[in-house]
Amino acid sequence: MRLILLGPPGAGKGTQAQRLVVRHGIPQLSTGEMLRAAVAQGSSVGKRAKDIMDRGDLVSDDIVIQIVDERTDEPDCARGFILDGFPRTVAQAEALDAMLARKHLKLDVVIEFRVDEALLMERIVKRAAEAHAAGQPVRRDDDPDVFKTRLDAYRVQTRPLVDYYRHRGTLQTIDGMAPMDAVTDAIEGLLPHRV
Ligand code: AMP
Repeated sequence: MRLILLGPPGAGKGTQAQRLVVRHGIPQLSTGEMLRAAVAQGSSVGKRAKDIMDRGDLVSDDIVIQIVDERTDEPDCARGFILDGFPRTVAQAEALDAMLARKHLKLDVVIEFRVDEALLMERIVKRAAEAHAAGQPVRRDDDPDVFKTRLDAYRVQTRPLVDYYRHRGTLQTIDGMAPMDAVTDAIEGLLPHRV
């Protein structure tokens, strides 16, 4: 089973991806997390990505495409994977199509999380304040100004993928503002049935 979770930052893709990991035993491939790990390690990719991520902009297509290409060759991806935060541009989607074709793999479904931007902004401000109050680390790019840049990047560069996948017949849309368990149920209802 191979799926893409598509939606703006803060829409709950990561939370739902983790639930899918537990239920279906396939890994979550979050390019954001892989990039944060690269930054933490101080690798050459991390060094190139750090400032861009801190600003809330997208890192270059080449970097993330290579990360995903390598990661999907790992043995734990053999039964499938959940792409969370990739692809984010049309160029990435095209590269993914080519990559999957080369590996003789098929994409099952692209799930679009539809959410209201004003609500996202509210959620993120709350999330940062709660984490701060609890003494937990706050993601640098959850700062409201940076978050706004991330939302802009979504609107301009990523949202065109909704049409991209709609034209290919793989797009399904869910209400990302529904309660978390209802979102999980909606996603489960869209997954391919295995015999
Ligand atoms: P995320 O955790 O998915 O919100 O990603 C955090 C940050 O990592 C983003 O704001 C981008 O700077 C970068 N990033 C993650 N995935 C991608 C991607 N597919 N293409 C470009 N940049 C990405």
